[in-house]
Amino acid sequence: MKILKRLLKIVFALIGVLVLIGLITLWVDSFGTNYLKINKNDPTSNNSYLITNVNVIPMNQDTVLADKMVYLKEGIIEKIADTIEISGIQIFDAENKYLTPGLIDMHVHVWDRYELGLYLSNGVTAVRNLWGMPMHLRIKEDVIEGNIISPTFFTTGPKLTGPEFIGDDNLNLSSPEEAKEKVISYKERGYDLIKTYYGLDKEIFDAVVVQAKISEIDIVSHPSQKVPFSYHLNPQIKSIEHAEEIVQQPLHFDLDTIKLQSIIDSISQSKHTSYCPTITVFNNIYQMMINDSILDSESLKYMNPLIKKTDSKKQFERWFNAKREDPETVGRIKKQHDFHMTIVKKLHEAGVTIICGTDAGIGVTLPGFSIHTELAFYKNAGLSNYEVLKTATVNASKTHTLMNQLGTIEEGKTANLLIVDRNPLITLSALKEPSTVFVKGRKLDRETLEHLNEKAKNRKNLMASAMRYLEHLIVER
Ligand SMILES: [Zn+2]
Repeated sequence: MKILKRLLKIVFALIGVLVLIGLITLWVDSFGTNYLKINKNDPTSNNSYLITNVNVIPMNQDTVLADKMVYLKEGIIEKIADTIEISGIQIFDAENKYLTPGLIDMHVHVWDRYELGLYLSNGVTAVRNLWGMPMHLRIKEDVIEGNIISPTFFTTGPKLTGPEFIGDDNLNLSSPEEAKEKVISYKERGYDLIKTYYGLDKEIFDAVVVQAKISEIDIVSHPSQKVPFSYHLNPQIKSIEHAEEIVQQPLHFDLDTIKLQSIIDSISQSKHTSYCPTITVFNNIYQMMINDSILDSESLKYMNPLIKKTDSKKQFERWFNAKREDPETVGRIKKQHDFHMTIVKKLHEAGVTIICGTDAGIGVTLPGFSIHTELAFYKNAGLSNYEVLKTATVNASKTHTLMNQLGTIEEGKTANLLIVDRNPLITLSALKEPSTVFVKGRKLDRETLEHLNEKAKNRKNLMASAMRYLEHLIVER
């Protein structure tokens, strides 16, 4: 008995020490991203400006409003006019450059706060995080309270899956009752959206949809293979993820454009459904296959170290081995990517609202930088520059009511804006490396944005990232 007591004491002491180490690790890590904090005397604490000499690309119509003034008042676009008389405000001379709405990446996976800076430096001023964990609620709170510079932050709850789709990252629902409870609880905890994932059968799926409607929370769906694809065209589901899923599920890998057309037609008839193709993440499989040293590349230094050590490595090895076993896999992957481009083209022709999403943060898909790859794919699929820019601005804001303050340059909207040297309606690549980014009216010049990149490069927060992930697994999801 005595031995047992002593043993228990040792076990408890060990657990105590581990918890303490965990807390200290997280505490130390929190200093690493202090550079994002907004202090009272910092230039970033100012969120009112008069922008002069600027050509506005409003994105509520295909036009450029030449030589305007734009008054940003406390983070909101207050006025757009030829001349604005106002005193006692900082003037920002845009030197005849172009003003566009900030970009919105509708499919990201955020692992730490360093990534927030990477999005900003690439002109992404809002993100929709699709793999919710408690840490995302904390980021969201800090963003709302104006404690940190960050893209406007939206997050789903944890991924809802069926009972047998086991993975430590998923929330396995075993009954309709549990599904309802989770939807209610996620809404209460402050998650913005519900994410449905693989393996939800009809009963559980219905329960999620019914409760989401009652709880007034939008659903984002990675299609479940347990219900027909058409089942996702429900008014409560505002967006469907991945062009790849059309190939996998309704087409069963049959790259047949005739069969595809009928699926596209059904999506286009469902007016409330936006489609988020995430072309980049699938194309990155191809990139991994044709570049054996991709994991050592300079750009991968911007990935979260935990992801780099686990997911990036795992994905690379999987496809490296697949290529070794059957060299024809490379061609097959390329062919499927090309078919995804056809999907985007057809979605666009059918009038479906396409929203730009990259799936950044996993594999080798970089936070921030990859949005420009995604946009270039849409252009190659046949969209005009205006239509391409819509996918990352106004289309996103149309998808969810909670995003309707973003996506266009209009009076009363959030001042998430980019200053770019050339007209992106003519030169799409002008969106890369914007010279200035306004996020909720706060001005970040290129030098500051480069600093955000530098801070995120080679970061050493593997342990802290693991702790946060562990928190997600331990805390009641
Ligand atoms: Zn994803």
